[in-house]
Amino acid sequence: MQKIGMTTTVPMEVIYAAGMIPVDLNNIFITHENPQSLVEEAEIAGYPRNLCAWIKGLYTTTLQNEDIRTIIAVTQGDCSNTHALMETLEMAGVKVIPFAFPFDRDYDLLKLQMEKLIESLGTSWEAVQRTKARLEQVRQRVKELDRLTWQGDRVSGWDNHLFQVSCSDFEGDPEAFASRLDTYLAELPQRNPIKADIRLAYIGVPPIMDDLYDYLEERGARVVFNEVQRQFTMPFAIDDIVEQYRTYSYPYGIFYRLEDITRELERRQVDGVIHYAQSFCYRQIEDLIIRQKLKYPILTLEGDKPNKLDARTRMRLDAFLDILR
Ligand code: SF4
Repeated sequence: MQKIGMTTTVPMEVIYAAGMIPVDLNNIFITHENPQSLVEEAEIAGYPRNLCAWIKGLYTTTLQNEDIRTIIAVTQGDCSNTHALMETLEMAGVKVIPFAFPFDRDYDLLKLQMEKLIESLGTSWEAVQRTKARLEQVRQRVKELDRLTWQGDRVSGWDNHLFQVSCSDFEGDPEAFASRLDTYLAELPQRNPIKADIRLAYIGVPPIMDDLYDYLEERGARVVFNEVQRQFTMPFAIDDIVEQYRTYSYPYGIFYRLEDITRELERRQVDGVIHYAQSFCYRQIEDLIIRQKLKYPILTLEGDKPNKLDARTRMRLDAFLDILR
């Protein structure tokens, strides 16, 4: 089956309905055995050093995966760096299909975008609707995992992150993913409870470093809300697929995202918020709005390269946890 790369979440129901396999390029970049080498290769090719590492990672990842010769690039609702990424990939012979989430969440414009995607991949609304019902079976289980994260004490913040972030493409095989998740859920009662007296929310794009959650748990704090990762699971029970991607908050403005964040912070009774911002990302500017709007202690973290937490960040996390205690 043909693989279709994606620069971020798009209506994957269309890809599966067309008999193709969606591949979230972010996931294969960050799980590469040496993701930093992919960033460096993009820099050697001419990508600037002062540019978000995710974009550079996606560039090399696409070039290295020769079975991915078509990608869907989100041209509105993600970031403008994607435009130049598309152009450099086109230069390298990759076919690029643009997809735009309308900034104002306009229903008709979003429906038109989905229609164009359906046409371009050669499927139909009926097949897409059937696929939505199929994926709903998997999404239900992920919702349960998320509920157990904040209502129980056995799902770690990292596992919550990993299962939810994987919902952007269901690892190319929704049923195999669901079965792995079922096994995880079945084993939960045998796990030791996580001892943590501080409940945290993580908001912003997923972290580029992979030891944040473990570090927090070692220090008696745990993440019970992963904002963007949860959005990848399409957490709202909505029949209309256009409305589903209109309710999905990540590609839209910060004020709309804050509605969801505020609701979940209250529901999950968090003590503090970590706002993660990627180096050289325009979303860093939104930090000033987040700080004004959220009435919670907030720590803004910045990550650059795929790596472990550096000493300075660990110290800042320690100080933040001390304040919360
Ligand atoms: S982290 Fe920011 S700059 Fe980087 S790809 Fe995502 S939106 Fe773009």
